[in-house]
Amino acid sequence: MSAVTPSLDERLRALKDRGPAVPGPLPPLVRVSGAARSYGEGSAARVALRQTNCEISDGDRIALMGPSGSGKSTLLHLMAGLDQPTVGTVDWPGIGPREALRPGPVAIVFQGPSLLPALSVVENVALPLIFGGQSNDEATARADRALAQLELSELRDKLPEEISGGQAQRVAVGRALAGEPRLILADEPTGQLDREIGSHVVDLLIAAADHADAALVISTHDPAIGARLPTRWQLADGELLVSADDDSKETPR
Ligand code: ADP
Ligand code: MG
Repeated sequence: MSAVTPSLDERLRALKDRGPAVPGPLPPLVRVSGAARSYGEGSAARVALRQTNCEISDGDRIALMGPSGSGKSTLLHLMAGLDQPTVGTVDWPGIGPREALRPGPVAIVFQGPSLLPALSVVENVALPLIFGGQSNDEATARADRALAQLELSELRDKLPEEISGGQAQRVAVGRALAGEPRLILADEPTGQLDREIGSHVVDLLIAAADHADAALVISTHDPAIGARLPTRWQLADGELLVSADDDSKETPR
């Protein structure tokens, strides 16, 4: 031990002088700052999303509501880093640069079929992890764990053509969970399912977000789906409005 090492007393006093470590608010997972997206140029330009400010933070459970064409997919694709705004910025202060989003931290569940037909369910769930650099064994173990957490293990060896649309959508939720996401973005995940099966997929998305301790955003035009989440944001004609029926009174920041 070096002679200059402070005594325990001195170190305790220094800690006390510094005061208790008060954790600051966590940075948002995604921050949309004055971001807008239009397609085409000049007189043919079409605004898909008007200038928007909002943030998604840890623990958020948000339904992004709006009719077809209101800009839901556009906003979700910007939040997912799949698309870039034509004006303004989108960043991920709580996650990292765009390259850090996938596979894993930001998981996306789309409306339609997204499983590769030649691969079994467990292989479909493991594939993004393998692309992310995990060994086959590691990825398969994590895929099996995610399937088990969502009670989907009996589907593991089936091919996509052997399961229903609702089951395939549940497997897509399992694939999102396997990446240990911080943020799950689901773009009309129930759009091609009947009400009851769609409702089960929403249950599973909420369960996956709870298991992963991830924030969750589900876009939908269906008020019954929106009612399942504590916070609702309304999009109309590319504009993000504060919803009057939002229980949490939380507003897009
Ligand atoms: P939603 O998901 O709510 O149905 P979108 O975000 O897909 O809405 O679309 C918003 C608007 O942007 C729509 O008017 C749509 O036609 C337009 N749009 C979306 N993608 C494109 C594109 N690739 N090219 C031109 N217009 C687009
Ligand atoms: Mg859409």
